[in-house]
Amino acid sequence: MVYKNMIDQHGLDFDQRHIWHPYTSMTNPLPVYPVTSTQGCTLTLADGRQLVDGMSSWWAAIHGYNHPHLTQAMKQQIDTMPHVMFGGITHAPAITLCRKLVEMTPDGLECVFLADSGSVAVEVAMKMALQYWQAKGQPRRRFMTFRHGYHGDTFAAMSVCDPDNSMHSLWKGYLPDNIFAPAPQSRFDDEWNEQDVIAFARLLAAHRDEIAAIILEPVVQGAGGMRFYHPNWLKRVRQMCDREGILLIADEIATGFGRTGKLFACEHAQISPDILCLGKALTGGTMTLSATLARREIAGTISNGEAGCFMHGPTFMGNPLACAAACASLDILQTGEWQTQVAKIERQLQAQLQPLAQSALVKDVRVLGAIGVVETVHPVNMAALQRFFVDEGVWVRPFGRLIYLMPPFIICEQELTKLTRATTLAVEQPSLFNINGG
Ligand code: PMP
Repeated sequence: MVYKNMIDQHGLDFDQRHIWHPYTSMTNPLPVYPVTSTQGCTLTLADGRQLVDGMSSWWAAIHGYNHPHLTQAMKQQIDTMPHVMFGGITHAPAITLCRKLVEMTPDGLECVFLADSGSVAVEVAMKMALQYWQAKGQPRRRFMTFRHGYHGDTFAAMSVCDPDNSMHSLWKGYLPDNIFAPAPQSRFDDEWNEQDVIAFARLLAAHRDEIAAIILEPVVQGAGGMRFYHPNWLKRVRQMCDREGILLIADEIATGFGRTGKLFACEHAQISPDILCLGKALTGGTMTLSATLARREIAGTISNGEAGCFMHGPTFMGNPLACAAACASLDILQTGEWQTQVAKIERQLQAQLQPLAQSALVKDVRVLGAIGVVETVHPVNMAALQRFFVDEGVWVRPFGRLIYLMPPFIICEQELTKLTRATTLAVEQPSLFNINGG
């Protein structure tokens, strides 16, 4: 059966009445666009229109869609063993993947926990930190993080998301009470300002005996505002964690696998975290899979503690099909071509987006690696702007005051120009923004 034939008006009506979409009302939903196929950097709509993809399906599809190496690896795996439980069993796709991850991630991260999504990777990382302190006989229950952070939608992950953006007030009494430091102010390309860390250091000192771990998104704060901060921050936080014996969790679910111009964003500061979360682009955007890597000392302490093991084990842990896709994606990254591709995208985004900073509707333009952000003065009118972009032949999904592009690494110059041109046209049209608030 070819599901693409099923998208007709009945299908869309059913969708509207019965299917939740991300962060979307069930009573007054924004339109959804039926996509029937993908190829390279193109999404094809049911009506035949073709859109250049500027989103990489939320950071994931770094090699574009339907990449033959990934497709072939998955086809081969699906015929052999699409899934088998991981309790008491192991298999080659997981072993190959974890070996690659241990080799390519920052030094010292040796023990890999595979799970199903980014949010679960964060849950696992936080649980590891809690269980580590528990096993040491010095229970610690709190986490410290930056404002403007985003780490996922499950409850522990939400408890370290920006308290305002993620509406902590909705979950009052249910979310653990974590510690929020002001967001970094020194921008990625600016002079480093040592004053920036003062408030953070004070807060850390005041809570030093309660904090199990600091969790942060290295260099790029993604869904919490698309902010790029100075790599020296990571060096300072690493030093503070070492001094106080506090664990450092790096959430590289969005930044991992080349997006910022380094394979991992921690490399901008040459630091290694104690625990690292990966997801999204891990499978090249084909399957849902995440990995949480920890230092051996953490795994050892947990395993020698009262529980005797780490208390987690998802049903689809180490799913062979997803692992095979991830191995294929990492093969492509290991050719190193991504470095040239990302550098080229960065230059083009700089050249074509930076002039938009002159627009009265634009507050700021920033580019890092294969990420281009246009921060607008007013919030976007989501439905109108989405329609505008589709009419321009591009897939860009803005939110709040942010229009951002993070295309697949394989995008060609003409396709990227289409994306930046549509963005340029958009910021010339006040009707696409909620100028009177809202
Ligand atoms: N951490 C970061 C930094 C993310 O950007 C995201 C997803 N946007 C997550 C965690 C959660 O990942 P997932 O949506 O796969 O649960």
